[in-house]
Amino acid sequence: MKVSELFYSIQGEGKLVGVPSVFVRTSGCNLRCSFCDTPYASWEPEGEELSVDEIVQRVGEYGARHVVLTGGEPMIMAEIVELCERLKGRGHHLTMETAATVYKEVRIDLASLSPKLANSTPHDREGGRFAAAHERRRMNVPVVQRFIGASPEFQLKFVVSGEDDLAEIRGVLGRLRGWTPADVLLMPEGTDAGTLDARAGWVSEVCKREGFRFCPRLHVHLYGNKRGT
Ligand code: SF4
Repeated sequence: MKVSELFYSIQGEGKLVGVPSVFVRTSGCNLRCSFCDTPYASWEPEGEELSVDEIVQRVGEYGARHVVLTGGEPMIMAEIVELCERLKGRGHHLTMETAATVYKEVRIDLASLSPKLANSTPHDREGGRFAAAHERRRMNVPVVQRFIGASPEFQLKFVVSGEDDLAEIRGVLGRLRGWTPADVLLMPEGTDAGTLDARAGWVSEVCKREGFRFCPRLHVHLYGNKRGT
């Protein structure tokens, strides 16, 4: 499968924030978010073709237990089921970072589900030519529900850019079962510490009011918005 980068860093988001982890970033995505912070794995996918054997070997060289499969959209990769099986067979803890628009039975420990809100639709990017397809695909509630039902642990991570995103989040949550407020993470949209800090105030207030988790982007604060981090 095409992999844009494979590196060892600190998990910056979600329930496992702070945990040293190996990241496998597959290249290619079925969405085109306006705010995508990894365009080299979505808008203009780059990378090298690696076999499952090569990925497992490179992951193993770091000697870490936690592995994060991310993208792009790892769930569209033809060999993703096999890759998860092989990594689990080596005793790794697996987090799957996905927009949850495609379901396959994958052997993982944490499903990090990030269904995309209307704020992600790229009306102003590349003349808006991807907007209609993105809008059709970005939210697939039945797929999100399947992940919730099938995963040992899950989190629902919403990227928020304004307080009016909350109405859409409430609407999505109202259609889902089996979650508690502690499973819901609100993450400010932004790729630099200044933007994240500027949004942290109102996002944290919403979290206090609703009982949701505030989701930082620790890696941005630690390293900046750089590849390989
Ligand atoms: S789903 Fe993720 S990788 Fe794909 S375009 Fe959106 S932010 Fe980028």
